[in-house]
Amino acid sequence: MISFLDLKSINGTYGEELKKAAARVIDSGWYIHGKELEAFEAEFASYCGTKHCIGVANGLDALILIFRAYMEMGIIKPGDEVLVPANTYIASMLAVSANGLVPVPVEPRADTCLLDPSKLKEKITSKTKAILPVHLYGQVCDMDAINAVAAEYGLKVVEDSAQSHGAYCGTKRSGNLGDASGFSFYPGKNLGALGDGGAVTTNDDTLADIVRTVGNYGSREKYINTYKGLNSRLDEIQAAMLRVKLAHLDEEIEDRRRIAHFYLENIRNEKIVLPTLTARTAHVWHLFTIRTKDRDGLQKFLKDRGINTLIHYPVPPHRQDAYKELAHLDLPICESIHKEILSLPMGSHLSDENILYIARTVNEY
Ligand SMILES: *Cc1c(COP(=O)(O)O)cnc(C)c1O
Repeated sequence: MISFLDLKSINGTYGEELKKAAARVIDSGWYIHGKELEAFEAEFASYCGTKHCIGVANGLDALILIFRAYMEMGIIKPGDEVLVPANTYIASMLAVSANGLVPVPVEPRADTCLLDPSKLKEKITSKTKAILPVHLYGQVCDMDAINAVAAEYGLKVVEDSAQSHGAYCGTKRSGNLGDASGFSFYPGKNLGALGDGGAVTTNDDTLADIVRTVGNYGSREKYINTYKGLNSRLDEIQAAMLRVKLAHLDEEIEDRRRIAHFYLENIRNEKIVLPTLTARTAHVWHLFTIRTKDRDGLQKFLKDRGINTLIHYPVPPHRQDAYKELAHLDLPICESIHKEILSLPMGSHLSDENILYIARTVNEY
């Protein structure tokens, strides 16, 4: 069976380095807010090209803390609206709701499955305060167009970069394409920890300070609490793991690009729609998603032939019980994506033989 993703194999590639880094943390006797976190934050900020990086507990918290900071800054208030792509992973919307804000789903583009800048204006009201573009599957949104709409209406742009570590838009990287960005280091992400982890990147000094403070019990100085904060910290051990993996991230991305280009060049089947690429370095291929009318049939066909695939995602947020208040919305593009999408195996665990077999089998369908 060819697995969709094999973390044992991927982390095994750096096994010795990871064990050395873990031992360094164990022996240090210092496990929260120490040298590893400080070093990782500096290294990741430099990788993204931003002034600040703040390590937090996970990707959802990263986004929650950004909106929370804008509320503390008086820029956003409860009941305000945030435009989000309708076909995102539910975490993007949860980050908005968790702050008492209202997520407003916007239809994606049918070809790239990314937020459609031409559909933003019709959703803007006097309560709209931010746009949350999600660089879904690892490809950045059309940020020039999105930032232009934001500038025109005075909105904040918060990137959800949970799937796009290292992706470029022009000469700038994901994380440096809006006002602030949330990253996830969930183990299966392109830059994955060995447990939960997340980060906020931004060039805004005030926002960075408030995110850092709110994430640490609202406290800048021990036992002095400025905000009703929460506890959301990136542990030393995860920061140490991430420093090892960050040094190899560009190699991982190149490997994914090689596999994706092999699929793009070798999958030829009238029944299958391949992903649409906007620019070569815009995509880091967190997921290689294909589309077909009979998605469940294709998934079974591949499974019967030893190929594991996944669906990202089977049910859109507005069709979940958690978002009953959005159930009345008519979002046909979003719904057709959820019915047709299928993710092929992707990652450095795949051999040349594996990807040849996957492409051939998809062609036989
Ligand atoms: C994974 C993911 C998140 C949440 O990250 P966690 O670290 O799991 O909390 C948010 N948004 C998107 C698009 C994701 O893929």
